[in-house]
Amino acid sequence: MAFFINDKEFENQGEFTKYGRGCATKIPTPIEILRVDEEISSNKSRRSLFSQLSIEVRFHHVTYGAKGLITKSQRKKQIDLLNQAFAGANLKFKYSESKVQFIDNQSWYFMGHGSAAEREAKTLLGTDSKRYLNFYTGGLVSGLLGWATFPFDLSGDPILDGVVMLDESLPGGDAAPYNLGMTGVHEVGHWLGLYHTFQGGCDGIGDHVHDTPAHSAANYGKPQLDQAHNACIVGENAPINNYMNYVDDEWMNELTPEQEARVKEQIMMYRTGLLNT
Ligand SMILES: [Zn+2]
Repeated sequence: MAFFINDKEFENQGEFTKYGRGCATKIPTPIEILRVDEEISSNKSRRSLFSQLSIEVRFHHVTYGAKGLITKSQRKKQIDLLNQAFAGANLKFKYSESKVQFIDNQSWYFMGHGSAAEREAKTLLGTDSKRYLNFYTGGLVSGLLGWATFPFDLSGDPILDGVVMLDESLPGGDAAPYNLGMTGVHEVGHWLGLYHTFQGGCDGIGDHVHDTPAHSAANYGKPQLDQAHNACIVGENAPINNYMNYVDDEWMNELTPEQEARVKEQIMMYRTGLLNT
C-alpha cells in the first residue's frame, strides 16, 4: 500500500476509510537518513539529554463555515493523549486556550501536502517553530489524515515546520476508525524524528530503531499477533500496536524504549529551541 506514502501517488488518492490510514509525511531520502544517523553517532558523547521537557503546542484551526470548529474539550483530550504517549520520552505537552487561532478559508481548509495553500496558511498562522509545536487542523485533500515535518528540516524551512491534521481525526471527530486522536500522536512522532515502523520494509535497517521488529509493509485495522505475519525475521512479531504503524486508532498504544531514546536525541540535535521555551 505505497499508495499513501508517496507524494506522487497522492494524485490518485481515495478515501482513507476504504484504503487505510493516509499519512502524507514524506519518506526521507537515503542522504537525509544517512546524515541523521551520522549526526546521532558522531555527537552522542557530547550530548546530555534532558530529564523533563515541556513543549508548548499552538493550535491553528482552519475552518470552512461550520466545518473544522475544534472544541476546547477536543484540544484537551489531544494534549492528554500526547502526554500519555510521550511520557516515556520525558515530554510534557501543554497549550494555552488564549493562543488558539481559528481562521475561515476554503482554499486553506482543503490544503494538500506541499501545496501553495499549506505554505500560505503556515506563513500567516505559524508561531516561532523553533520554540513551539505548531498544530494545524483542516479538512485536507480527500483521503489524508495528516502529515508532519521532520526535525532535520526545521532549520532549512522553519515556516513549514509542524503537524497538519484532519480535523475529524481529533478525539470525538467522525473519521472512524481514526477519530480517537492517534493521528495526532503519530504525526507528532514524525515531528520528533520517528519513522514509520515499516520504513524500508525488509531491506536495510528499517526505521533505525532496534526494538521495533522490521516488517515488510504497514499493518491495518486491528490485527492480532497471529495474523500479523509480515515481520522480516522468523520468530519476531510486527509491532502491531505501535503509534508509528498504520493500525486503527483503537489499536495504537506503544512506543518502544529506543523510539523514546531517539525522540530525546532528535530534540537535542535539531530542536534545542524547545529547551528555552
Ligand atoms: Zn506517518
